[in-house]
Amino acid sequence: MNPLPPLLDSYGRTFDYARIAVTEKCNLRCTYCMPEEGVDFQGKEKILQSDETLRIIGILGRMGIKKIRFTGGEPLVRKDIVELVSGAAATPGVKAVHLTTNGILFDRYAQSLLDAGLTGVNISLDTLDAEKFVRITRREGLDKVSQNIKLALDLGFPRVKINIVLMRGFNEGELKNFTELTRDHRLTVRFIEFMPFDSHQIWEEGGHFASADSLVKQIETLYPDIQPAPGTRTEHHIFQAPGHQGKIAVIPAFTRSLCGNCSRIRVTADGNIRNCLYSDKEYGLRELIRTGGSDDEIVAVFRKAFAEKEKDGFEAKKTSSAQKVSVEDIVRVSMTQIGG
Ligand code: SAM
Ligand code: SF4
Repeated sequence: MNPLPPLLDSYGRTFDYARIAVTEKCNLRCTYCMPEEGVDFQGKEKILQSDETLRIIGILGRMGIKKIRFTGGEPLVRKDIVELVSGAAATPGVKAVHLTTNGILFDRYAQSLLDAGLTGVNISLDTLDAEKFVRITRREGLDKVSQNIKLALDLGFPRVKINIVLMRGFNEGELKNFTELTRDHRLTVRFIEFMPFDSHQIWEEGGHFASADSLVKQIETLYPDIQPAPGTRTEHHIFQAPGHQGKIAVIPAFTRSLCGNCSRIRVTADGNIRNCLYSDKEYGLRELIRTGGSDDEIVAVFRKAFAEKEKDGFEAKKTSSAQKVSVEDIVRVSMTQIGG
């Protein structure tokens, strides 16, 4: 298929990274993400099927997207996840295919995912304490997730990362236990700022937010000789302690100091483009695909979405709140619906 001109926004930024959510469902119930009863999950017919998702990825590959990340919800609850990964890996233009998972089901698919071309896996794990694991996820599973992180390393996945949402009054005291994992393992531990996408559960209580700057200070105190290291565009602060095999990153997801570098696209599980995590504006692809829309028409929706992308997440948030008329208009309250 012919390459197409790259996706460009009005600030001259081009986009090379797509985060594709493949389900809203999940086998955990993290308190910073979903309530115990789940969120208002959409019917199966509203969720894109693998051939529809792969068609979108094919078009994105022609527009210069080089990296695909499958996420959700929990992407490993999709029984066709290996097919999605191998389809994405075989797409012209796509150089890297990654997955963000809670790790519970990882051993079931790990070897097949590697064989299918998965180049990186981010496993979310917020605590190394079994009792706290149950408190935060409302399910058992610390041993399973820990074993599966080890499995990812043993199988030789090129990139293995641990995502930790760092929250005051919950896991801030575990920062050192996590950073010490980088001493003997070639993985990156990534501390992510808590964001207000928790279905109105604990964000509003206040007091749980720990800023990226405060986390960086704590890391510098723990390792005074720490050195800056190369990382991805969202790994705004990334370091390596002397003699450690792995890296330590801090992601300012809420303070948004990385927006200027944004190179990402999001597609929700129900087939909507989101040009920014903090924007409510959506550009639908599902009906277009299901009513025989051409590739050119799909490309046009992506171009419109990116031409309308705001400069940063603060501007996007302002415009989004201004558009709302009532609380019912806030359609996505959890990262599981937006695609984390
Ligand atoms: N279920 C998978 C997992 O947990 O890795 C993939 C989806 S999850 C929504 C993607 C990432 O978003 C996870 O690393 C999770 O910790 C993070 N996340 C979810 N809710 C968040 C919030 N309110 N603030 C910050 N990060 C959040
Ligand atoms: Fe599920 Fe991931 Fe949300 Fe936790 S963060 S409830 S694992 S989607």
